[in-house]
Amino acid sequence: MTSSFTTAELRQTNLSRALQAVQRAGSMTRAELTRELGISRNTSAQIVGDLVDLGLLVETAAGPSGRRGRPTTELRLGPELPAAVVAEITPEDVRIATVRLGRAIEDSDSAPLGEQDPGQVLAWVARQAGGRIAMLGGACQGVAVSVYGLVDSEGVVQNAPNLSWHGVAVGDSLRRALPEGTPVYVGNDASMAALHEARYGAGVDVGVMLYLYSADGVGGGLVVDGRLLEGRQGYAGEVGHMMVNPIGAFCRCGRRGCWETEVDQRALRHRGHAPPALGDLEAAESILAASQAGSADALAAVEETARWFGEGLGSLLNVIDPDIVVLAGLFSRLWELAHDEVAAVAARRSLAAPADLNGRIVVSSDQRDASLLGAADHMMAPLLARPGSLWTAGRWPA
Ligand SMILES: [Zn+2]
Repeated sequence: MTSSFTTAELRQTNLSRALQAVQRAGSMTRAELTRELGISRNTSAQIVGDLVDLGLLVETAAGPSGRRGRPTTELRLGPELPAAVVAEITPEDVRIATVRLGRAIEDSDSAPLGEQDPGQVLAWVARQAGGRIAMLGGACQGVAVSVYGLVDSEGVVQNAPNLSWHGVAVGDSLRRALPEGTPVYVGNDASMAALHEARYGAGVDVGVMLYLYSADGVGGGLVVDGRLLEGRQGYAGEVGHMMVNPIGAFCRCGRRGCWETEVDQRALRHRGHAPPALGDLEAAESILAASQAGSADALAAVEETARWFGEGLGSLLNVIDPDIVVLAGLFSRLWELAHDEVAAVAARRSLAAPADLNGRIVVSSDQRDASLLGAADHMMAPLLARPGSLWTAGRWPA
């Protein structure tokens, strides 16, 4: 390794750390940034200068500080930032948007999934993405798609029973339809949400983070030192099909007694005898509300579901021993409304001390957009790691 290589790498690292610090904080003074990075004022001035030249940062006058002396300025992300085009395919609908480096969601659109086949859905995504790519020009870093189902590392949706998609080559199909050379990534929705939670939510600076989501089925994601653990085929974190009840119901995956057959919205609606006219989400919400209002039947349904949640949670704590568990969807509601049932069973199953559980389990802060933003995070990661890559080779400062 030559010393010039080392210097260039160090510079990239400092550019990356500075950019991410401003991105997280929203705005910072130069002095705050220098302190946070623990570098000299000279180095900090160079780094800020580079990021301003790249258009990634701008320096603006801060609001009145009330202090005397020189007016301060603040660093913020620039207005014309690099962006990813992201789509999210769920059993309800397909969403598409442009997400800037600063996580601003722009130009968002959606369509109901209805009875459309995968080809029609992907044609819609390709058409919508093509328009956004043309608008962004060189600022576009690629297209990332989050899918509610089992996605392998080749971008094939192997099995999405809730969408009735099996063996759909989403990545290849989009690559053929989009301008040549457009980077395309396809990932599982819970994994994408986990990644976002690890970068910007409860999982920042956490060693091992487990993300658990229950809605129409159960999803999970495992992030270790800021990186998504994908496994050999891309299936790591598929906790919904962990077997918890050998005499339980048949699952849509074809096996019996999977965790999601006991703890998703349908399991709760089945136990709570919700009116058939309601969709699964509305049915689950109505049972949760009725349990809070004192209905004994609804309370029993919620507590039974909470106990099965605790069973799986305790086993996962034993296997993974995460620093933190982030809950979303129905899991976050059960944790809030039936905390004692979940915690008691999880503690009984887990080798960890019961008192240790509460501090390690938190509720996700951004449940609506986490998966969409996580897909953008994935596409933006190379740029965040090496902001200087935006420079054309000839312009790299000596
Ligand atoms: Zn299953």
